[in-house]
Amino acid sequence: MNPEPINLGLKQTEKIMKKTEIKKITEKLISKPKLFWDVADTKEKEQVFGFDKEYQNFLNKAKTEREAVKIISEIALENGFSPNPPSRHPIKLMKTFQEKLIALSISGKKPINEGINLIVSHLDSPRLDLKQNPLYEEVDLAFMKTHYYGGIKKFQWLTRPLAIHGKVIRSDGSSLDIVVGEDDSDPVFTVSDILPHLAKKVQTDKKVSDAFVGEKLNLMVGSIPFGDKDTKDRFKLAILNLLNQKFGLVEEDLISAELEVVPAGVARDVGWDRGLTGAYGHDDRSCVFTSLKAIIDIKNPQKTALVLFVDKEEIGSDGATGAKSRFLESVLADLMVAHGKEPLYHEIHKILMNSRALSGDVNGALDPDFQDVHEKRNAARLGYGICMTKFTGAGGKYGASDANAEYVGWLRNLFNKKKVVWQTGELGKIDEGGGGTVAKFLATYGMEIIDCGPAVLSMHSPFEISHKGDIYMTYKGYRAFLES
Ligand SMILES: [Zn+2]
Repeated sequence: MNPEPINLGLKQTEKIMKKTEIKKITEKLISKPKLFWDVADTKEKEQVFGFDKEYQNFLNKAKTEREAVKIISEIALENGFSPNPPSRHPIKLMKTFQEKLIALSISGKKPINEGINLIVSHLDSPRLDLKQNPLYEEVDLAFMKTHYYGGIKKFQWLTRPLAIHGKVIRSDGSSLDIVVGEDDSDPVFTVSDILPHLAKKVQTDKKVSDAFVGEKLNLMVGSIPFGDKDTKDRFKLAILNLLNQKFGLVEEDLISAELEVVPAGVARDVGWDRGLTGAYGHDDRSCVFTSLKAIIDIKNPQKTALVLFVDKEEIGSDGATGAKSRFLESVLADLMVAHGKEPLYHEIHKILMNSRALSGDVNGALDPDFQDVHEKRNAARLGYGICMTKFTGAGGKYGASDANAEYVGWLRNLFNKKKVVWQTGELGKIDEGGGGTVAKFLATYGMEIIDCGPAVLSMHSPFEISHKGDIYMTYKGYRAFLES
C-alpha cells in the first residue's frame, strides 16, 4: 500500500506539476531581458540592415557637432520643419543656436500646457581639438598641438589616420569650413608613437595614466621645407604657405578657429554576419539619429513632441551650447508663441514640470573581456534592445538624478505594449567608476526623466561598436515615446 504524503512540500508540488505548467509560471514570474534576434519579427530582422545603412551615412557626414546641426537642419527643412512655421496644426518648429544646438518640435493634439514629450541627446564626441597656437616644427617635421576633449584613453589616438574638421574665422570676418582627411584623395594626419624597442622606461614600466601624456598628442602635419636651409622655421612656414594658398589663411586665423581632430574614415559593418557597426561617435549620434528619425516619422502626436540636440555633454554640459544653458526655455518660449500663447516664465516652467523626457544617451555594454567590472545581473548587453538606465553617477549614486519608480513603470509598460525590445543597465559595478549624462540638468525643471539609449562596446574610443538590433529598437522606443 502507498503511504499517504504527510506534508506536501514545495518540492513535491513541483514534481506533480506538468513541465508545461512550470514553464508557464516561469514565464509569468521571472523577468528576463530578450535578445533582439530571438523576439523581433521577420520584417524587423530584415529592416535593421537598411535602417543601419542610413545611420552609417549619417555618422559619416556628422562627425562634429557643427556638421551634425547642419545635416539635421537640412533633413528637418526637407520634412517641413521651419524656424518660422505657419500657425496651422501641426506646427513643425526648428530652432538652432550657434551652429551647435538644434531643437525640432511637432505640436500635439493636446494643449501644450499639459506638458511635452522630450528627447535630449548630445552632438559632441570625445576627440582632439587643435590648440589656438597649434603649429610648430621639430626635427624637420611640422606638427600641430592638440588638447583632448572629453574622456579618452590617450593611447587609442596614436598611430591611426586622423582627419581635421572645423571652422576658421579669417581676419576679414569671413568663415571657412574645413574637412581634410575623409576623401580618398585627401591626405590624413597622425600622432606617432614610440617603437616598442625603446618604450621600456617611457611607457612599458609606467602606469598607463602616466605613460601617455596629453602634451605628446601632437598631430603630424608636414615634412617638406619651404625655402633653403637658411630659412627660419621652414617646415612650419611650408605648412602656413600651403594653408595660405589653399584657404587664404594666415597663422593668426588659427586663433579664431575650432578645428577638431577625429578618426578618418567611414563607419563599417563588423563581423562575418554584419550584425554590428563600428564607427566613431556612436556616443551619442546613435541617439541623435534615432530621435531625429522618430520625430520625422511621427505624424500626429497626442502631446507636443520635442527633440533637443545639445553640445558639450562630454565636458560637463557647461557653456552656452550645453544642456545647462537656457536654450530649452527659449525653445519653449518660441513654442508658446507659435501655439498662440503668451510665453510667460511661470507657464514655461509649468509645462516643463508636466513633461516627460528621455535623456538619449548610450550605456557601456557588458565587455566580454572585462566582465568583472560589470555587475552582470544589472549590466546592459549588446543585442538586448534599448537600455533604460535608472541612475548614473558614481559611488553612492553621487551625481545621479535617479528616475522615479512611477516613471519607470509607465515607460516599461509603454515599451511592452509597443513590442520594443528593452533592457535595463547600470554603468559598472558599485565603486568601479561611474559617469553622468544630461539627465540631472533637465531633472532640475521637475520633469520626469530617465536615460535611455543603446549599449555600446569600446565606448569613447575612436571605433565604438553598436548592435544593429539595438539601434533599430532605440528608434522604435523613441517613436513610441514621442507618440505616447
Ligand atoms: Zn554620451
